[in-house]
Amino acid sequence: MSKVSGNLFVIAAPSGAGKSSMIDALLKRHPQGSMQVSVSTTTRKPRPGEKEGEHYFFVDEKTFLEQVDKGNFYEYAKVFDHYYGTSRHVIEDTLASGVDVFLDIDWQGTRQVKAAYPGVHTVFILPPSNAELERRLRNRGQDSEEVIAKRMAKAQHEMSHYAEFSYLIVNEDFDKSVQQLEHIVMSQRLRRSKQQIRHREILQDLLAE
Ligand code: GDP
Ligand code: ADP
Ligand code: 5GP
Repeated sequence: MSKVSGNLFVIAAPSGAGKSSMIDALLKRHPQGSMQVSVSTTTRKPRPGEKEGEHYFFVDEKTFLEQVDKGNFYEYAKVFDHYYGTSRHVIEDTLASGVDVFLDIDWQGTRQVKAAYPGVHTVFILPPSNAELERRLRNRGQDSEEVIAKRMAKAQHEMSHYAEFSYLIVNEDFDKSVQQLEHIVMSQRLRRSKQQIRHREILQDLLAE
């Protein structure tokens, strides 16, 4: 079998819709390392339990802007008063090694990625209702009331961009939503453009006569 480059996916959602939990669950179902989530760099402070290099690379604003000037980011955006960016070399190296990459980024970053990488597959996750979104933000127990109010206000705006994405998942039943995300990933792996490289030898044999 020949080496096939990985697929790039953007998974976006209003904060609290469940995208991080869904990506984590999908990665756990594929422990052999065929997919990875890109770890962003941010100027936001770590939440309790968040680890450097696992959830984010945490930097100050000066360092972030220096990295912007150096062209180190594939895309970056200011979300909720903080900068967030996707490292260019991590994505390029990971895709080249045949591993699928998930970007957990906002709609602004998604536009930049679509322009830079037209082959990206974009997925938007919706909560089943606004009341449920607020309940999840609260239940997560990570953010203050003020931050929750800000994120709820921002959610309307984030969700208004849903039509810029190719796939939509309503995350009501968690397991079902993870399965739907998995189907999206698997269907990209089965595209003819990928399969004809992966199975070049079989095709050659089949068509030899
Ligand atoms: P969450 O909304 O609870 O997942 O909170 P986070 O602080 O993890 O993410 C904040 C926002 O920044 C979300 O909209 C993310 O999708 C977005 N985000 C995270 N990483 C990146 C990135 O590397 N680039 C861009 N453009 N957006 C990002
Ligand atoms: P995001 O990354 O989109 O901000 P999270 O993955 O942190 O969202 O999820 C927000 C909260 O909602 C978490 O506490 C998570 O366990 C919970 N959650 C996610 N999906 C569901 C679901 N389908 N039903 C109920 N709770 C959910
Ligand atoms: P949080 O602060 O809760 O971790 O993330 C807030 C928002 O920032 C989320 O909606 C998340 O998708 C977005 N975000 C996280 N990382 C990035 C990134 O690297 N680029 C962009 N554009 N947005 C990001």
